Amino acid sequence: MARILIIDDSKLILHVAKTILNKQGHQVLLAEDGNTGLQTAATEYPDLILLDLILPGIDGYEVCQRIKKEDATSEIPVIMLTSKSEAADKVRGLEMGASDYVTKPFDEGELIARVNIHLQIRELHENLKEKNRQLKEMANRDGLTGLYNHRYFQETISKDFQRAIRYHESLSCVMFDIDHFKKFNDNYGHQTGDMVLKTLGGLIEELIRDSDLSARYGGEEFVLLMYHTAPKEALMIAERLRKAVEQYKFHADDLVLTVNISVGVAGFPHPEITDAKTLIECADKALYRAKDEGRNRVVVF
Ligand code: GH3
Ligand code: MG
Ligand code: MG
Repeated sequence: MARILIIDDSKLILHVAKTILNKQGHQVLLAEDGNTGLQTAATEYPDLILLDLILPGIDGYEVCQRIKKEDATSEIPVIMLTSKSEAADKVRGLEMGASDYVTKPFDEGELIARVNIHLQIRELHENLKEKNRQLKEMANRDGLTGLYNHRYFQETISKDFQRAIRYHESLSCVMFDIDHFKKFNDNYGHQTGDMVLKTLGGLIEELIRDSDLSARYGGEEFVLLMYHTAPKEALMIAERLRKAVEQYKFHADDLVLTVNISVGVAGFPHPEITDAKTLIECADKALYRAKDEGRNRVVVF
């Protein structure tokens, strides 16, 4: 079932077309002039529009042009309803962005067939767009943890740093690394290590705000970007995270395992932090101090 808008100044045509389309199970919206049609298209966002070319006020060509110009409605297929059989009128309509035409008085079978074709094309197009969106999202994600990947993080932090500066907002970066993870892998196997990384990804997502960003920075290294968050506040969240990881029990076969993380925090505004690259470097420096000072701790740059 689709929602179809018919724009035509003839009550008879509206009635006939509506009856045919209703029989096919479609929901039909009606408009008797161009302005009403444009309004209905914008507010109701129908799946398809049947449009008469000769209308009182703004004509069908202009209506079609405006539908195609507006982002919100540009992808709705438009089928012209024309009583004219001259090729020039049809060509002009197609040039304005119409997908097809049906000549009045129309044959029921032809109207149904053309409507169905354009509904199908639209659905295929929508599916393709959704697939593309999914692919794009996948390209930004780390396969193991489901968190954003290194590349996406780098792109995002550059943009977000600029914005934070422009609007005088605070921005913090938290970087952490699992302690002695090589030994963990050696003891329990790489697969168990992978399970820990994956579980950790879920734990991070649970602990941070939806608006913050979490990414897998490298092997067993993660990074968080916290918006509107000064380093002092980020420290508290980092400490909460460190504790949560320390207390988490990872189950592998009949073993109950734990890991610790070392955490570095750096934040903006800070006199030394003037670009995104420096923000990451400072968080990294703080992380390595946390390692030096004995691990399983948080250090603020
Ligand atoms: P430190 O406390 O200094 O961080 O010690 P570490 O052993 O964690 O650090 P090191 O850099 O020496 O080793 C990192 C280890 O992380 C080595 C590697 O086996 C493990 N690792 C990195 N990526 C993955 C992964 O995708 N899966 C698993 N299972 N292990 C990984
Ligand atoms: Mg490590
Ligand atoms: Mg490491």
